[in-house]
Amino acid sequence: MEQKPTLETITALAKRRGFVYPTSEIYGGMTSSYDYGPLGAELLRNIRNIWWEEMVSKRPDVVGLDSQILLHPQTWVASGHVEAFTDPLVEDRVTHRRYRADHLIESWLQENPDAEPVEVEGLDIGDMARLIERLGIESPEGNPVTAPRHFNIMFETAIGAVAGEKARVYLRGETAQGIFTNFKQILDSTRVTLPFGIAQIGKSFRNEITTGQFVFRTLEFEQAEIEYFFDPEQTKWQTLFEGWKETMWRFVVQTLGVREENLRWRRHTDRERSHYSHETVDLDYAFPFGYKELWGLAYRTNYDLRQHQEHAGTKLEYTDPYTGRRFVPHVIEPAAGINRFFLMLLCDAYWEDADNQRTVLRFKPSLAPYKAAVFPLLKNRLELVQKAREVFDLVSPEMATTWDDRGNIGKRYYYQDEIGTPFCITVDFDTLEDDTVTVRDRDTTEQVRVEVSELVGYLEGRIGRRCLC
Ligand code: ATP
Repeated sequence: MEQKPTLETITALAKRRGFVYPTSEIYGGMTSSYDYGPLGAELLRNIRNIWWEEMVSKRPDVVGLDSQILLHPQTWVASGHVEAFTDPLVEDRVTHRRYRADHLIESWLQENPDAEPVEVEGLDIGDMARLIERLGIESPEGNPVTAPRHFNIMFETAIGAVAGEKARVYLRGETAQGIFTNFKQILDSTRVTLPFGIAQIGKSFRNEITTGQFVFRTLEFEQAEIEYFFDPEQTKWQTLFEGWKETMWRFVVQTLGVREENLRWRRHTDRERSHYSHETVDLDYAFPFGYKELWGLAYRTNYDLRQHQEHAGTKLEYTDPYTGRRFVPHVIEPAAGINRFFLMLLCDAYWEDADNQRTVLRFKPSLAPYKAAVFPLLKNRLELVQKAREVFDLVSPEMATTWDDRGNIGKRYYYQDEIGTPFCITVDFDTLEDDTVTVRDRDTTEQVRVEVSELVGYLEGRIGRRCLC
């Protein structure tokens, strides 16, 4: 069994090597907010692109969408978010710091393993109040806390420059609502027929109470959601639901290369399920702080379309092309977080080679920020540098490639291992004689000589997927 990295190890590597930085660090940072550095930006882009390729481009039954972050405010009234998109909040009675009640209970239970076992996920606000009272749960500062209350996590802002004319709007709390509000346009302007999905990747915002879980839970994050519409009289929701479970599992295990033993399904209890859902399961990953949701799958019935139909006064019906029957389709929603994929991949790929004292991010090559690194053996030998530039110019149009001429070759390998570059290409004196280069494999450290004319084909074969995602 390999030892798992701690969250501190991952956070430190991410910062040291330019994957993730605390937002506005020069001003002291901001709670639950992170920026993605040069390598993080590449990894995020690869995750997004691979997800889009698999879920949209390669599927005949899914189309894409890119809707606004600011939607008509009635959207969120209709969807129930203004009323019910809340987290249970408690406040330290002395310091007035705020905590998410369920998370506070969970960490208290972890610190008090002898206490009675409690399944926290399904508790409602009343249960939590009673539990806090009965077990005497205090804030992390050791003070009593208030009874939990519902705290709405939608972010509010306003449109309009003139005071008094400002209209209250919300930064979207999920990308899904942009899909529902465009449902009719998509039906009218494209050739889709049921069952079909509409997919969207984009930023969502939640005024999260919990802090300290790195990019797992942030105020601003990226979602990748699909609303998969169907006719419940033609297709059983259970069949589609099972199909999506298989698709999600396959994507994480086969496409992203994550180890199966770190994944599990968890079904939501009746009390835990969101207001719109008839059935929900989470695909959880074993993060350093325990199994947590990576990707949710919910059967939202036709709740959202019916709500919008009612509030907007516009029919959101589908007409069966064969029977002419009109109805509001039902929907199954796989909803993932790109940033949670990102954190999962850092954790899953992290590997320490105790013998060689190497730290390696063993990403699947298709996900690695750089597929190849090109080095001139010595940076002060013009002929080596010139030849290495030629090699770089040959490889870089075909795949994300980086250049490194700092320090000795050993240090360069060490650095590239730590950022997960699968292949390092060295131009040395033999290259000038026989036009071959050394290609070193990140995982095995094996080195082979490859002819420059065959280099791109060789790398593409090893990467096994279109390299520029
Ligand atoms: P959680 O229970 O962890 O708060 P959720 O059930 O509220 O998550 P959903 O509403 O199902 O999350 O959102 C779909 C996906 O969006 C989640 O599976 C997760 O990957 C991602 N996500 C949700 N909230 C955040 C956040 N604050 N930061 C990063 N990703 C998030």
